[in-house]
Amino acid sequence: MNESFTYNTFPQTVLFGAGVVEKIADMLTQNSFARAVLVTTRSQRANGNVARVENLLGAKLAAVFDATQPHVPQSNVDATIQLARETNAEVLIALGGGSAIGVAKATAHSLQSPVSNLQLPIIAIPTTYAGSEMTPVFGVTRERDGVLKKETVNDARIVPRVVLYDPLLTLDVPRELTASTGINAFAHCVEAIYSITRNPLSSAAALYGARWIYHALPRCVENGADVAARSEMLQGAYLAGVALGNVAMGLHHGVCHVLGGTLNVPHGMANAIVLPHAIRFNADACAAELAQLARVIGIDAESDELAARELGKRVARWIQQMQLSTRLREVGVREQDLALVTQLAVNSKTVQNNPRRVSEQEMEKFLGEMW
Ligand code: NAD
Repeated sequence: MNESFTYNTFPQTVLFGAGVVEKIADMLTQNSFARAVLVTTRSQRANGNVARVENLLGAKLAAVFDATQPHVPQSNVDATIQLARETNAEVLIALGGGSAIGVAKATAHSLQSPVSNLQLPIIAIPTTYAGSEMTPVFGVTRERDGVLKKETVNDARIVPRVVLYDPLLTLDVPRELTASTGINAFAHCVEAIYSITRNPLSSAAALYGARWIYHALPRCVENGADVAARSEMLQGAYLAGVALGNVAMGLHHGVCHVLGGTLNVPHGMANAIVLPHAIRFNADACAAELAQLARVIGIDAESDELAARELGKRVARWIQQMQLSTRLREVGVREQDLALVTQLAVNSKTVQNNPRRVSEQEMEKFLGEMW
C-alpha cells in the first residue's frame, strides 16, 4: 500500500467481445465523425481486416495508411499527418499493435491545437497485447546526433476515445508475436505493482491482469484458435493496460525502449529477455509488492523475499516454455552495442523512476548478464 497517491481517469468507451469490430460504423455515427483515416499495417491488409473495416465504413473512410513500421518512426507519423490534413479527417482509427496505435497517437498529438481544445480523436482496435490503447503515452523514434532514439510523450488528450477489443481479431496472431506481446502485458503488471506512483486501482488491475495472463497466455500460444483463451488473454492485456496507463514504469520498460528505439529489437522480444532480470534486480527492494503478484499466480513461499525471488525464477521458466529468446545476442544485439545501451538506459527518465536506484555499473552488469 502507498499512503498517498494521484489517480487520473480518462474519458474512454471500451467495448469488449467477440465480433465487436462490427460496431465501428456505429461508433463513428454516435460521435458524429464523418471522415476517418485508418492507420494500420501490411499484416492487417494481408489478413483481410482492412477490407472488413473498409466495407463497414464505406464512404466514411477517407484514407488508409497501411505502412506502419515497428517503433513508430517519425516518417510514418509525417505520412499520416499529411493524409489527415488532405482528407480533413475528423477521427483516426488505429488497427494493429502498439506501433499502429503509436502512429495514431503521435499524429493526433502533432495536429492538436495549442490554443483551443480542437483535437483529432482516436478509435483503437488492438490486435496484440501491448496495451497502448489504454495509456496517455506514446514513443516516436527519431535520429538525434547520429543515434536513433525513441522519445516518449505523455499527454492525456491523446488517449483513445473508443477502444474496440475483439478477441476474434487475435486468432491469427502468430505464435511468437502472441507470446512476446503477452509477456509485454505481464511486464506492465509487474512494473505497475512496484511503481513509485502506484495507486489502489493500478495495483488491483495489475494483480487481476497478471492472473489472467499467466494462465491464458500459454493456452493461446499452444492453440491460437482457442477463442476462450484469446478472450481471457485480451481481458488480461486490457487490465495490464489500465495499470500501465496511470503509473510510472521503471527499469524494465526503460531498457526495453532503448533496445527497441536504438537497436530495433522487437518490443515484445525485448520484454521477454529483460523481464526475469528486472524482477530479480528489484526483488529485495520491492519484496512486499512482488510477493502479492507471486501469490496471485500460485507461488507459495514462507516470506515476501522468497516469494519475490521465486517469481523471477518462475517467470524465466514460463518464458522459456514459450520458446522465446532469452539472450540479447539472439536478437541481433552485439557485445559492442552494450556500452551505448548502458549510457542511454541510465540516463532514461523511465529507468530513473525505478524503485531501486540503478547505477551505471549496475546497468552494465544487468545488460551483460542478459547478453
Ligand atoms: P507492433 O505493433 O510493433 O507489431 C509488431 C509486428 O506485428 C508488426 O510487423 C505488425 O505488422 C505485426 N502484427 C500486429 N498485429 C498482427 C496480427 N494480428 N497478425 C499478424 N501480425 C501482426 O508490436 P507491439 O508489440 O504490439 O507494439 C510495440 C510498440 O508499441 C512499440 O513501439 C512499443 O514501444 C509500443 N507500446 C506503447 C505502449 C504505450 O503505452 N504507449 C505500450 C506498449 C507498447
